[in-house]
Amino acid sequence: MLATLRAIAESVSQQANLDSALVCFVKMVKDAMNTQCCSIYFADYSQDNFVLMATEGLNPDAVGKFRIGFTEGLVGLVAQREEPINIAFAKAHPRFKLSPEVNEESYNAFLSVPVVHQKKILGVIVVQQKMARVFSQDEESFLITLSAQLASQLAHAEIKEILRQDESSHQTSVLKGVSSAPGISIGKAFVVIPKLNFKSIELTKNSNVNEQRRLFSQAVAATRKEFHTLSMTLSDTIPQEALAVFDVYQQLLDAKSLGHNVEAQLQEGWCAKSALKIVIERLVAQFNQMQDPYIKERAVDVKDIGLRVLHHLVNTEHAIKDYPENTILMAHTLTPSMLAEVPSERLAGVVSIKGSANSHASILTRAMGVPAIWGIEDLPLLQFDDKEMILDAFAGRLYISPSQTLIKEYTQLQYQDDLLNNRFLEEQSLPATTLDGEHISLLLNAGLELNTQQNSAHICDGVGLYRTEAWFMQKGQFPSQQEQEKWYREVLTRYYPNPVVMRTLDIGGDKVLDYFNITEENPFLGWRGIRISLDHPELFLDQLKAMLKANIGLGNLKIMLPMISGTDEVEEALGLFNQAYYELGEAFPEQLIEKPDIGIMLEVPSSIFMLPEWSKKVDFCSVGSNDLTQYLLAVDRSNARVADLFNPYHPAVLRVLSNIANECEHYELPFSLCGELGGDPEGAILLIAMGYRRLSMNLSSLNKVKWVLRRLNVSDMEQLLDECLAQPNAKQVLRLTRNFMIEHQLGNLFYTPK
Ligand code: PEP
Ligand code: MG
Repeated sequence: MLATLRAIAESVSQQANLDSALVCFVKMVKDAMNTQCCSIYFADYSQDNFVLMATEGLNPDAVGKFRIGFTEGLVGLVAQREEPINIAFAKAHPRFKLSPEVNEESYNAFLSVPVVHQKKILGVIVVQQKMARVFSQDEESFLITLSAQLASQLAHAEIKEILRQDESSHQTSVLKGVSSAPGISIGKAFVVIPKLNFKSIELTKNSNVNEQRRLFSQAVAATRKEFHTLSMTLSDTIPQEALAVFDVYQQLLDAKSLGHNVEAQLQEGWCAKSALKIVIERLVAQFNQMQDPYIKERAVDVKDIGLRVLHHLVNTEHAIKDYPENTILMAHTLTPSMLAEVPSERLAGVVSIKGSANSHASILTRAMGVPAIWGIEDLPLLQFDDKEMILDAFAGRLYISPSQTLIKEYTQLQYQDDLLNNRFLEEQSLPATTLDGEHISLLLNAGLELNTQQNSAHICDGVGLYRTEAWFMQKGQFPSQQEQEKWYREVLTRYYPNPVVMRTLDIGGDKVLDYFNITEENPFLGWRGIRISLDHPELFLDQLKAMLKANIGLGNLKIMLPMISGTDEVEEALGLFNQAYYELGEAFPEQLIEKPDIGIMLEVPSSIFMLPEWSKKVDFCSVGSNDLTQYLLAVDRSNARVADLFNPYHPAVLRVLSNIANECEHYELPFSLCGELGGDPEGAILLIAMGYRRLSMNLSSLNKVKWVLRRLNVSDMEQLLDECLAQPNAKQVLRLTRNFMIEHQLGNLFYTPK
């Protein structure tokens, strides 16, 4: 069964378009289940009905025409119930609806399953047979498995098809994602080259044959050069006979083999990438059909060569391309280094397929104030390249090839958004004091963005979280102590005399160093943060010493330890901290080395229960609400699929945050919060009501939060908190906070353009 399932999924995925994929699907399922009929219906939400998309066994003329309402017939029932229906006499069922146009009178047995993708019914698969019988449990499970496997494939095929149709009909199409940095951008897509495969190449025509031929020859030449270099590099390590494989590769690249086949496709009007795809896929299929295992193996070589040429082809295209004026950067999994490569004045927006609003790359876009959405459908990205688009990161929508009317509408909304931001800017130098006179220390989260935030020092009360890992990530090796000292000194000086809380290295999870391999099944539950530092005291001591030395003569440094989960870690880390301090004192007796405050992050749930003991050992703590939410709710913060479940407004998270404030007050341990929640005006309001008086956030949130706080009373916030803590879920909490904002004339902060 498994082999059949795989074969069906593979064959469907290799089809050039949705129609042929569905035709292939129904045929293979009918054969595999040994029935007389298999059909697939797609949900059309614009008309509230299902349309017959493909069939083997019903009237073929009804394909694309026959429609049945969402609540009609057995097909409608399967969708309504969202579960399979398996009946021996379909016609005897009260929901059976006779539809003469499809010719299904001769069938009795009926097995149908819904096709569901991310809670949405995409369609319904129906298998029918003349003989009246109930399908076996195995057959039912087979169809369910197939439907689940194919749901995402079909969802993507459906979107691809919409994009294709839109291109020819000049309509706008829209994709949904999760907003991670609010705002609107209107620009052109620049796709960061994904890991290439031929599946990701859409067949497209290009009438400029000469240009396409030139691109292809350039790519072949680059591939030849690459093979030459490879064979030279390997010549010392592998025998001469084995190197002969490169000669074979070079021959395959000759005009006589690959060249003239591609040329024929170029002549037919295909662009170079499409021509290459057609030729390679055909050759691979031919080799695969051979009986001789040796010749069959050559399919792998052909594919390898094809991919290398494709890689150069795409690179050549990109190399000659500049980032557009308003670049909307698109990637499969966006990383901070991809962001860093775009000149900042050109970066207008960001779209990432994988990841979610809480990943570090996403936090970085927020810090940079660049609208971003995460977690759109997993599509062959290259088809977006160079397309005009509107990114509505308020509503998490991406409009491809927008109409002029839509562009006009969004330009107006962008203008209004700018006006609002300017109002925040006008008050940025004023104190963050509430109407009833309570001063809230607003601190900066910094470090993820390496370019210095020169102008930020005067608008904040210092730095509440300096993420040191970004420095390490951009280097090709661990930085030296001197190098680190220079970086840290620069930051401490910039914010002097205000405090700077520097966090020791927090790599692992979604922050990887190219030169320090950590491959794990569950990276967020693995070797991360303090665990790595304690396992590598030489690195940890180096970093601590660099911080202590950078602080000489300034004295505004505080040190914070990430991911603390147990007392042993606190004690070991403090032991190494003392060691670094004393060793420096011995090495530089003439210098006055200050001993800074040392604190911990509260982000692993166990830490919350250890405050009675730890409050005697450390000087302060800061809540990392990003990780705390992730670990409390068991939701991977960078997984788009569960992004809806990552919600710091979950009453459990709010209750924990409130308990932390009470405990810290009780044990007189200074506390603050530096997760993203504090940068959200509604989050900040609830936290202040809980007793937090120090909140650390990114620069773009800081102005907004300050502006909001200056218009509210703490006593009103406290009343709101009491109600929120009693709510059963995050949705109700957010309903209350939103109403609160509206009541206090702050509702315009939440406008969602569409
Ligand atoms: C947090 O976890 O809330 C936090 C501030 O740290 P980071 O996002 O860097 O993990
Ligand atoms: Mg954290």
